[in-house]
Amino acid sequence: NDKEYLASEGETIIQVADRNNIHIPRFCYHKHLSVVASCRMCLVEIDKVKQAQPACSTLVHEDMHVNTKSQKTKDAQKSTMEFLLINHPLDCPICDHAGECRLQEFSAEHGRGYSRFKEEKNVKPKRTRLGPRVTLDDERCILCSRCVRFSQEVAKDDVLGFVDRGTYSTLTCYPGKELSNNYSLNTVDICPVGALTSTDFRFKMRVWFLKRTHSICTESSVGSNTEIWSREGKIYRITPRRNDAVNDTWMTDSGRGLFKEFESEDRLKSYSVDQVAKSLDDAIAATRALLESGSVGVIGSAHSSLEEQYLLHKIVKHTGASYEMIQHIGEGDGLLMSEDRTPNLRGALITGLINELPEAQLGQIKGAIENGQIKTLLVFNEDLEQLCIDLIKLKESVQVIYFGSSKNSTSEQAKVVFPSLSVFEKEGTFVNQNFILQKFKQAILPP
Ligand code: SF4
Repeated sequence: NDKEYLASEGETIIQVADRNNIHIPRFCYHKHLSVVASCRMCLVEIDKVKQAQPACSTLVHEDMHVNTKSQKTKDAQKSTMEFLLINHPLDCPICDHAGECRLQEFSAEHGRGYSRFKEEKNVKPKRTRLGPRVTLDDERCILCSRCVRFSQEVAKDDVLGFVDRGTYSTLTCYPGKELSNNYSLNTVDICPVGALTSTDFRFKMRVWFLKRTHSICTESSVGSNTEIWSREGKIYRITPRRNDAVNDTWMTDSGRGLFKEFESEDRLKSYSVDQVAKSLDDAIAATRALLESGSVGVIGSAHSSLEEQYLLHKIVKHTGASYEMIQHIGEGDGLLMSEDRTPNLRGALITGLINELPEAQLGQIKGAIENGQIKTLLVFNEDLEQLCIDLIKLKESVQVIYFGSSKNSTSEQAKVVFPSLSVFEKEGTFVNQNFILQKFKQAILPP
């Protein structure tokens, strides 16, 4: 566009353009996937060859002249749009992807505004189940192969492919397979049209009604960056937010459903003392009395934010309490699910609550509780029954103060209960497995 840009050998036109904020439309190109140059939407005029070439697959070289705004470029992109819209249904008003559809945006920006196609459109299956969480509308698919490449290259689950030829090409799962890996919903995010939809979210809410809040996935210590989509205190979906240092543009399917566990009937909603609902002041007075009687133990939580751990550290120092933390371990998948299934274990190292990463099970504090050395026990979000501590047996010797978002057997035995907020209802910071400090914001009000 009559300006000079620096580029490295091996870079493509689209990479240089993106780096310099020059907009080139694209459907099949994705920064984190291999290049196939199949959609032809990124055609740009290159002077030496005197014709439009795909910007995603053409390497730059010295003295190359690229024009992303010339008439030739515009005509090429307009023609591509016209071809794509020949068979694509013009059903934006009822399409679940309206408002976040590349085809819808580009048809306004680069299309001709009306269709010259008078013949009958191709008819294909409208509601195909690709897997437990993804539904396909084949008529809307523009065959960009993003979903196919994502499954092969990122999720390492080669399950999708095209069958039949030309106009009849159709996306499908290989015989006997389905799109059920824990990354399947990323195909919905990267599908540039409304072909792939989340079975859970489809037809629930128009995206332009939803508020978007930056958050962090608490499923594991990876700390995938996320966006919470909510309206009037209700969360409708969670999608990944781009952070190339942490999760690129992906997240797990399981992490997207975490908000549902906080919608359950088991949420704790009031302070209580001796299992009777009380005011916050009463709960604090009861807690103070217990803490002042000495012999305090604390079982902390790696789900607590850095700020909460900092305050807890003050309580631990002030009362001289013994402190322990449980590590929750599961199987890692080598991608965005780490073995450590908590978001902020490393935060406890930084706040000084612990000096080294803990064992999976309780160590010394368990013995101290069972020997009667600990009289008052503060428990954060853990269930003592699952840690093999029998509260009924210890009822006379240990008084429990429980902080947690949901009921469990510990809250049901506790002397004092403080209902706490879920990650969606508060703001704070977590430290992920690579010691990256990340903020999360409040998306909805607590119950
Ligand atoms: Fe591309 Fe979407 Fe079709 Fe997959 S379903 S090939 S992502 S248009």
